[in-house]
Amino acid sequence: MTAPQTDTPTLSLSDESNSSTSAPGLERTLQGSLLRPGDDGYEEARHVWNGMIDRHPAFIARCHSTADVIAAVNFAREHNLLLAVRGGGHSVAGYGTCDGGLVIDLAPMNDVRVDPATGEVRAGGGATIADLDRATQAYGLAVPMGVVSETGIAGLTLGGGIGWLRRKYGLSCDNLLAAEVVTAGGKRLTASATENSDLLWALRGGGGNFGIVTEFTFQAHPVGPEVMFVFTLHDGTRKREILRAYRDFCAAAPDDVSSFAICGDVPPEEAFPEAIHSHPYVLLAACYAGSVAEGKRILDPLRTIAEPLVDFSGPMPYLDVQTILDEDYPEGMRYYWKSLYLENLEDAVVDAVAGLDDRRPSPLSTVDIWHMGGAISRVPAEASAFGGRNAPYLLGVEANWEAAENDESNVAWVREAIDAMQPFSGGAEYLNFPGFHEGGETTMRSTFGSHYERLVALKAKYDPHNLFRLNQNVDPAEEKAAA
Ligand code: FAD
Repeated sequence: MTAPQTDTPTLSLSDESNSSTSAPGLERTLQGSLLRPGDDGYEEARHVWNGMIDRHPAFIARCHSTADVIAAVNFAREHNLLLAVRGGGHSVAGYGTCDGGLVIDLAPMNDVRVDPATGEVRAGGGATIADLDRATQAYGLAVPMGVVSETGIAGLTLGGGIGWLRRKYGLSCDNLLAAEVVTAGGKRLTASATENSDLLWALRGGGGNFGIVTEFTFQAHPVGPEVMFVFTLHDGTRKREILRAYRDFCAAAPDDVSSFAICGDVPPEEAFPEAIHSHPYVLLAACYAGSVAEGKRILDPLRTIAEPLVDFSGPMPYLDVQTILDEDYPEGMRYYWKSLYLENLEDAVVDAVAGLDDRRPSPLSTVDIWHMGGAISRVPAEASAFGGRNAPYLLGVEANWEAAENDESNVAWVREAIDAMQPFSGGAEYLNFPGFHEGGETTMRSTFGSHYERLVALKAKYDPHNLFRLNQNVDPAEEKAAA
């Protein structure tokens, strides 16, 4: 099984651009480089993080500046090319590449500038979480981002962004103050509270539909340099009991605590005692975004819920917390992840989650429960496009495996799991964990609810011909259909 290309009308290369040597205009204009099949570096540059995705773009424009992005957008539009936009290349669905079209790769645009006086942070559209964390922690600051530092800030923020600070400081997109955006028409716009505020509203959770963000401006907060972090593996043969205790902990947890519970199998690695290799675990992990002493006291129950298999908890540099999971998600392995917001974690839900875990076909796969709420649910729903803001829990079902021959069983496990959990959900998904976005418009409507019509209208305003379509797509044609 290979990942399907997003189901969109086929765009063809014009005669001119179809010849592999035919982009001299763009090549001359770019400060960065333009790669074509056969060029040195093309093979490496065409790959994205998910090994399920194997595509061959006709051109890869490695952009160094906003001017480069404008030139590449104009080239794609004028030559009717299928266009993929890549920030960190960590889209699980593989949206950062395409077959036969143009990839606009912003990786070289990863500069981060911090104003320690205001806590405002400007970051290029190709920055990773690691780039952002390094620059902000130098001043004892952090912007809420995700839990794997190699992920791009662009895709993550535009889809929402949940990590170790989410319940204290909100989603990544809640901390987005402004953005510099290149539109489908090749114009540079500012989106902020005072300029094009409708565009800022859409960027906060509406995905890459509305333009290419060349620079993000975030609000950072004082964090660390050391935080209390719990990372305790409990005995997975007792998962029902442990998940119920986790739920009870979450019910009373203050907003300083952002945590999740993950069910999986202990990898046969040196970091873990040999006696527990391949044994099922429930990992309880939590970050306390306040004083270390207070964090120790508040988080202690997560460690003592039961006799742990192994406990790596303790005060830790925030930068180490941000990279602790990096090695678990190597580039090039095969991945298929979906998600569903849960209305509660009552016993029947715990039993159903445990049942999904019992059926995991790959020992590398996991079933994850993210505790949401806190600052996320205090932002008024109308303030941003993001959908699913009030759910107390998010279920992530992550298939991770190595051999292509196991594609079908792993993808089927995730799909069946999500189907089985629908009765415990209002039907909204977290669109940064979208499978291959097979749900299309139905998923978009159930996730965005009443925001969806506004997103369609804004798409028609900023990208009426759907140039930016390789994403969790909002189709501007729906507005015409409704008119
Ligand atoms: P890309 O593949 O580069 O792009 C993803 C999407 O964003 C595409 O649709 C693309 O067109 C669009 N896009 C990219 N750059 C721009 C830009 N500059 N302007 C406009 N559109 C752009 N999510 C969380 O919330 N929390 C987590 O903790 C978390 N952990 C993850 C861990 C791993 C290992 C992975 C693979 C993903 C994780 N995610 C997490 C999901 C992640 O948020 C999404 O996969 C996200 O899309 C990655 O962004 P990217 O820029 O790396 O991806």
